[in-house]
Order: sequence, then structure tokens, then C-alpha cells
Amino acid sequence: MSTARAGDPLLLVRQLRVEFQLPSASPWATPWSKKETLRAVDSVQLDLRPGETLGIVGESGCGKSTLARTLVGLQQPTAGAIFLDGKDITHLGEEGWRQLRRDVQMVFQDPLASLNPRMTVGESIAEPLHNLYPEMPLQQRWRKVRDIMPRVGLEAAWINRYPHEFSGGQCQRIGIARALVVEPRVLICDEPVSALDVTVQAQIIQLLKDLQAELNLAMLFIAHDLAVVKDISHRVMVMYLGKVMAQSSSKMLFQRARHPYTRALLGSVPLPDPQRERAREPQVLEGELPSPLNPPSGCVFRTRCPLADNLCSMQVPALRQTIAGDYAACHYADQTP
Ligand code: SF4
Repeated sequence: MSTARAGDPLLLVRQLRVEFQLPSASPWATPWSKKETLRAVDSVQLDLRPGETLGIVGESGCGKSTLARTLVGLQQPTAGAIFLDGKDITHLGEEGWRQLRRDVQMVFQDPLASLNPRMTVGESIAEPLHNLYPEMPLQQRWRKVRDIMPRVGLEAAWINRYPHEFSGGQCQRIGIARALVVEPRVLICDEPVSALDVTVQAQIIQLLKDLQAELNLAMLFIAHDLAVVKDISHRVMVMYLGKVMAQSSSKMLFQRARHPYTRALLGSVPLPDPQRERAREPQVLEGELPSPLNPPSGCVFRTRCPLADNLCSMQVPALRQTIAGDYAACHYADQTP
């Protein structure tokens, strides 16, 4: 039973940390050497309401996929707390997560790889029902499969076809049907369109928007490309080396980003107007992403930030509200033009 009050976030994450212990890469390391700690997700906070989409962006290795896997119970958090509908789900066991997967579902990046090539489309879509609702009569299961197929743009007549007979976009529609057939309340989409071409990306994004409006889903949409999250997200969170650098409404982020990293990411998004595109100052993100095993002191973005100074190397900037009302982890967020 729900313990949350109306208007409360459905998904709430507080100070979430995920670490991995890796063998030392030193050439002098022995099997007994101290392990190195990779902090993939560091002090992440977020909240998500029904009917809302939070976009999460950042380069590869920024921790967004580890965050997604932790939120669906595929990865154990090291510290922090996750609440779903007011209930603490941080340390659920396997059985607890089996129940919870009815509420929290995931759409994966590679649609073809996430489908069993030996199962027909109908069997693939029915599989989560079989796993999560074993008591459900067979007839009801197949009725749900036939219901969901047209809602994700698949013809019911394709029910006995195999994944190799479909395009990438159609396979992603099957992946979305598999996630939605159990009627979750939270949908976590991990780079769901990055393996698709631009036209198909737009179709899948429109489909997700339509389904969200119809089902009042709370959705996390993860991508490395800001242009992709722009259309679908109400709010956007920007991650770098496991930390949240900025969070704001989608509109504010695209109109007036406060964090230098967000501005650099935006600088790589082509403007639709060719005249404005030619006129704008190039904002190239220079340098390599530092190793998460050895992150920079102070602000983790300082080795690539054009505004970095001594303070940035000595003091970690807290994620705080700027005078404009958005959130940025930068000592100079209120002074940026
Ligand atoms: S705190 Fe310093 S290094 Fe970090 S983003 Fe702001 S100006 Fe750049």
C-alpha cells in the first residue's frame, strides 16, 4: 500500500553512492595488494513524480548507467537511500525486487541484444508477465500481449515473428512493450535511442511521450546527447564523473545554462537555424575525461573547465540553487554570463 502523500515524489534518491573495488593496476601489484576504489555514482540526489520525465545526460563513464542499474536493483548501492512511493527499497533482497519489478521497469540500449532470438515477439512480450505474475491465467497473459502490441506501434499479426525479422526501431518497440506489459509506474530508459538512426529516434521519443501521457508514467531518460533529451524531458540532470553537476527545468537548461560543463555539452548540439549556428562562439569540450579511479581534487570538472582557478582545485563545489532558480555545482554559477 502506498505510504506517500499526494504530490510526493514517486521515486526519491538521497546521497546515493555506488563503488566498485578493482584490483590495483600498478605493475608491482600482487594478488594481496590493496584494491582500488572506483566511485561510479557519488552523492546523487533526485526525485521523480508521476507523469514527469527526468533526463540524465553526460559523457560515457559519468555514472548514468550505473545509476540506472542501481535504481532497478541490478546493482547494490554502497551508501545512500532509495525510496519508492515512500518505502525504503535501498537494500531489498531478491524476492523484494521480484515484487518491485512490477512497479519499476527498464528499457535497454541495444534492442536486438535484449531480445531472445529463439522467442517469438509474443513470447518475448509475455515473458515478464510469466516471471512477475506466474499465477496469471495463460489467456489473460496473451490478451495483455495483444493489447500492448498496437499501443507501441506493432501489428498484432506479427505476434509469431522472430526478432531478426524486425528493424532496430521495431525491436525497441518490442523492448518497450516488454517493459510496459506489466504496467509499471516508473520506467527507466537507458540510452534507448542511441543505437537508432535520427528519424527512428524521433519516432521512439514521440512514442514514449505518448505512452507517458496515457499511463502517467514517471520516467528517467538517460542519454549522452543533450539534443535527444531536450524534447522528452521536463527536467534535466547533468552528470560528470559520477557527480551531479547541474539540474534544472529543460527549458532553463537550454536557454541559460549556469554550469560550464552544461554549456560545453550544449555547445556541441547543432542549432536548427544555420545562421545562428554559424554566428555562435564555438564551445569545445577539450581534454580527456579523467580516470574515475583518480578524480581531480576539488571540482572534478576543473581539468577541463575554462574558468578553473585555485579555489576550484581546493574546494568541492556543492550542488546549490543559483539566483536563477536552477541547481549547479560550481563556485561561480551565479557569476556566469
Ligand atoms: S567550480 Fe570551478 S572548475 Fe568547477 S565548474 Fe565551476 S568554475 Fe569550473
